[in-house]
Amino acid sequence: MSQTLSELAEEGLIETGVVLGSLTTYKLGGPARFYLELKDENALVRIALALGEEPVEVLIIGRGSNLVISDAGWPGLAIRFGAEFSNIEFGADGVVSAATAVPLPRLARESVKQERGGLEFFVGIPGSVGGAVRMNAGGHGSETAEWLIRARVFDLSAAESREVTAADLDMSYRSSSLTADQLVLSADFRTEPISRAAGEGLLREITQWRRAHQPGGTHNAGSVFRNPPGDAAGRIIDELGLKGFRVGGAAVSKKHANFFEADPGAKAQDVYELVSEVRRRVEDKTGIALQLELQFAGVFE
Ligand SMILES: Cc1cc2nc3c(=O)[nH]c(=O)nc-3n(C[C@H](O)[C@H](O)[C@H](O)COP(=O)(O)OP(=O)(O)OC[C@H]3O[C@@H](n4cnc5c(N)ncnc54)[C@H](O)[C@@H]3O)c2cc1C
Repeated sequence: MSQTLSELAEEGLIETGVVLGSLTTYKLGGPARFYLELKDENALVRIALALGEEPVEVLIIGRGSNLVISDAGWPGLAIRFGAEFSNIEFGADGVVSAATAVPLPRLARESVKQERGGLEFFVGIPGSVGGAVRMNAGGHGSETAEWLIRARVFDLSAAESREVTAADLDMSYRSSSLTADQLVLSADFRTEPISRAAGEGLLREITQWRRAHQPGGTHNAGSVFRNPPGDAAGRIIDELGLKGFRVGGAAVSKKHANFFEADPGAKAQDVYELVSEVRRRVEDKTGIALQLELQFAGVFE
């Protein structure tokens, strides 16, 4: 019989009670019942078998830049990839292979150094390769799906890894078919030749634009809502005069109305209530039911 998660915790493979807030850009949220910082893929089969014995919900955490974790924490197993999953390889064929924990800005910058272009848009997105594949992260006229060739994915329910093509992942605006128990291990991206000077110029343009138009990379998680077809959630929220609108320690950014910022000492529940209230007001005034891009994890009231 395989071991349970509790037994794996006793053995020291997984931890208990690790506070997750600091692993997210919002810096909010409580502890995970079980927590695994993955150092190599081998542990995943044991985890998959343990989940078969003792099923709990799984939360994969990348760089936590699209997540709000409940103040009560995560009641199941949270899995995060360690620094061991940070390798980037440049193939002679222009294919860039990146392990799942590689930060997207690093992928953009290192690709430009190798005179490989196309991935510059990642410089302004503070997520990881795994998070970008799951979310089909994008911006500046491009998105992950446009450059992704294939990904290696470990399926906890099948206890095995397999290679999937971008087409298999059914990627559309900020979404893919990946489920909560499918872990991206690595991804291969196509690129196009670019001169280092031209690539660096693009990186500069993007980072300058971000600095001018959006708040920085902490105490928020980027766009709260997906843009409705043909419009921008930020424009709609701004037009209702909600920039600066606050609930407890969370407020709509004065710089970009689709970014909601948390003060030091804010609660995850404040962000949740702010999001609910803004969505309610937008629907009342415009009839538009905004859809979340941000993900809430755990229990909210
Ligand atoms: C300042 C700021 C600006 C942003 N701008 C943009 C933008 O322009 N465009 C954009 O698309 N997003 C943007 N974001 C949001 C965020 O960076 C992206 O959604 C990013 O893809 C999330 O990656 P992550 O590693 O942080 O994922 P997390 O936030 O950790 O997780 C997001 C989702 O992906 C899943 N996940 C994470 N890692 C893996 C993995 N290895 N395998 C399987 N699933 C995984 C999680 O379970 C969760 O469902 C911004 C965020 C911030 C804070």
